[in-house]
Amino acid sequence: MTKVHNYSAGPCILPQEVFEEASKAVLNFNNSGLSLLEMSHRSKDFVDVMEEARSLVKEVLNVPEGYTVLFLQGGASLGFLMAAYNMMGKNKKGGYLNTGTWAKNAIKEANFMGEGVVVASSEDKNFNYIPKGYAIPSDLDYFHYTSNNTIFGTQFKAIPETDLPLVCDMSSDIFSKKVDISKFDLIYAGAQKNLGPAGATLYIVKDEILGKSSVKIPTMLNLKTHVDKDSMFNTPPVFSTYVSMLTLRWLKKNGGIEWIEKRNEAKAHLLYSEIDANPNFEGTTAVEDRSNMNVTFVLKDEANTEKFNNLLKEANISGLKGHRSVGGYRASMYNALPLESVQALVDVMKKL
Ligand SMILES: *Cc1c(COP(=O)(O)O)cnc(C)c1O
Repeated sequence: MTKVHNYSAGPCILPQEVFEEASKAVLNFNNSGLSLLEMSHRSKDFVDVMEEARSLVKEVLNVPEGYTVLFLQGGASLGFLMAAYNMMGKNKKGGYLNTGTWAKNAIKEANFMGEGVVVASSEDKNFNYIPKGYAIPSDLDYFHYTSNNTIFGTQFKAIPETDLPLVCDMSSDIFSKKVDISKFDLIYAGAQKNLGPAGATLYIVKDEILGKSSVKIPTMLNLKTHVDKDSMFNTPPVFSTYVSMLTLRWLKKNGGIEWIEKRNEAKAHLLYSEIDANPNFEGTTAVEDRSNMNVTFVLKDEANTEKFNNLLKEANISGLKGHRSVGGYRASMYNALPLESVQALVDVMKKL
């Protein structure tokens, strides 16, 4: 198999050794003679997987006491709705930063049982920056933001300051850098960016928020349902949870968040330096808000498109096409992407 440099935005690259281990579990899990895919989620083998996955999240992210980790189905897109249901208080209003497509989708869901109030937005410039200097109204029940805007290539460099309960969609940068979990009341993230295959959604829930919502919550959307049953109220996404566990083992073994943060910074520095130095390219976002995970850029002269695309193909670089709402190119550089893949891309950019 030729080595492909995989820049897919999600589902995306995972460590090769994780794929190998996962493929073994599909055939014969823990020498049980059974595939992981055909065994009960109530079996000891699988309960151990769920417990290790949950405890590795706590260990790797340094989650303080008083939080519960869940692996649920539904994707981050169901997380938009669950977050709103569980966080709505007496005002029935959540405040949102509208920083892109995913943030917008989250706001929409809040309007099903309350009101999603846009506190600040960067839509005026096609979401190419992170809003700053806004005032947060006091009659809100919670404050929600998207830590990394996967499509537009912007990322918060600091956690927004607020006294309100804080909720974050961390789908595309969780586990990529250090984060102070104690600042948050609820974090959610689809697994398929930095954690594992599609199918599981990670929730980190501050136990204090449970049972406090002012609205009636359907059973499956109530975080308390899942917390009370140790993330096993119904059949969990077994395979995705297992592979997430393997990815977390990989992360821990290699040096954890400190190691990956340095590696991600080195990758981002290498690519952004080339974008800034190379007269053929230009970044699409405000420099101070640039994402270390999703790097968006365009060709200054579109006449070079075919030539550049051919060079990418020759170098086995895949998944670089930009999202249709931005155009150009997007290099998604999730945790498992090695520095050598970024070097391969930079070499191609120099050749143009
Ligand atoms: C990918 C992504 C989503 C959507 O996740 P699904 O699991 O497909 O629902 C939401 N938010 C962000 C920031 C994303 O990157």
